[in-house]
Amino acid sequence: MTAVSALFDFDNTYARELKELVVAWQPDEVPAPSLVVMNSELAQELGVDADGLDGPGGASIFSGNTLPVGATPVAMVYAGHQFGGYSPRLGDGRAVLLGEVLDCNGHRRDLHLKGSGRTPLSRGGDGKATLGPMLREFVIAEAMHALGVPTTRALAVAVTGEEIAREGMEPGAVLTRVASSHLRVGTFEYSARAGDNDAFKKLVDYSIDRHYRQVLDAEQPYLAFFEAVLDKQAGLIAQWMLFGFIHGVMNTDNVTISGEGIDYGPCAFMDRYDPATVFSSIDHAGRYAYGNQPHITTWNLTRLAETLVSLVNEDFDVAAEALTSALNGFDDRYRSHWVAGMRAKLGIVVAKDSDGDFFDELLSLMQTSQLDYTSTFRSLAALLRDQAAEPVFGAENLIAAHWVTRWRSRLAAQGTELSQAADLMDAANPVYIPRNHLVDQALNAATKGDMVPFQELLRVVTDPFVERDGLERFAKPAPDGFENGFKTFCGT
Ligand code: AMP
Ligand code: MG
Repeated sequence: MTAVSALFDFDNTYARELKELVVAWQPDEVPAPSLVVMNSELAQELGVDADGLDGPGGASIFSGNTLPVGATPVAMVYAGHQFGGYSPRLGDGRAVLLGEVLDCNGHRRDLHLKGSGRTPLSRGGDGKATLGPMLREFVIAEAMHALGVPTTRALAVAVTGEEIAREGMEPGAVLTRVASSHLRVGTFEYSARAGDNDAFKKLVDYSIDRHYRQVLDAEQPYLAFFEAVLDKQAGLIAQWMLFGFIHGVMNTDNVTISGEGIDYGPCAFMDRYDPATVFSSIDHAGRYAYGNQPHITTWNLTRLAETLVSLVNEDFDVAAEALTSALNGFDDRYRSHWVAGMRAKLGIVVAKDSDGDFFDELLSLMQTSQLDYTSTFRSLAALLRDQAAEPVFGAENLIAAHWVTRWRSRLAAQGTELSQAADLMDAANPVYIPRNHLVDQALNAATKGDMVPFQELLRVVTDPFVERDGLERFAKPAPDGFENGFKTFCGT
């Protein structure tokens, strides 16, 4: 215990200031904790000496058996719209917030244990998590971070020594998650409906202080706060779309106020480009399909707007009009983030008004030709470097050939070398993403006790833009037939 006493320098504002939204709660004691993966770089960022953590001391902390000194463990209360229906009381049913630490850059970060046992908010659940899904969240979060997408991070996964009943019996595990906060749209929904206006205002002021202090200078800070959240979400979803990512469960309890992606359950990266792609086994209607994500974000932000009405203006109509007008701005904001990202993906530095349409044409060609989303952009860059390279769309596709000709002349008109455009593209287009078949293989091996494939995949996808010899199999789409019927699961 003494060796770990000064591990984190906690300052737990959430538990201290938002008492209406937390329940003091201890993680379960588990029988045989053992660390399976540890993020030393992130530990360093948090000001922690990772060396002291890779033994039993770390296993004990990251399984919830030892509370680091200064932690104030609480289960957070929130609500949420799940697949469109309102659940008035969700909350941490299998997690606790340990507290907050200031990282090396002075940023406040939450430390959160997921899979740490039942809480008063567990409803029917067992409060536990299993190794596969926790490793899945780990590798997706760290891949996202490496791609430059705002995301919660993963510090460690420990197995607990328990066997947990899911499809069969699976190893129990706890993920230590690091987030700039766990404020969710669902937190706002819960608080706004709880009937205590002062407590709700305190939550909003807390969120502004933690994430959006710049709005305090605005004429209407609460409206400006909403616009700031909306812009962050527009930027986040644009990134997801640019990297072919499908979150899978964009319920309002899985949407952060900070604009970080959170709760990577049945998420996946798309292989063949198709806006209708859905992998999640629970998303029967395709509500959270790839191409629906911007639209669903507007829907989710509308739920956030509803909570803010009385703070924006005491006159309902005035508030509703202002918030609606902000919401109506979402599509343009999203589109401008996305168009800017596509320019980078295609090496274009001189903007044109018609760029969005030009990029849409490419996507529709990719869809018709059933091209792999991620590798197509690298192939296009390769085409610029080597005139003789294989035509990306197949030699017979004249429409695509016409698009490529127009794209090349766009680049030529920029006055830069084509090789420079190709370099720009390679800095925006990953070679390696956590492809479904690779994640599947790694998690299956890990569940059987072999962590080698997971560690290798993690190394590859956390350095996604630089092509390396010997890693060809990580850059390729799934073998034929794999994607047909491939489903992802929450594992809850
Ligand atoms: P998620 O789909 O993981 O975002 O979870 C939705 C809600 O279900 C949250 O309130 C979780 O805390 C809760 N939950 C998920 N899995 C479990 C579990 N095994 N036991 C208790 N609560 C759970
Ligand atoms: Mg969730």
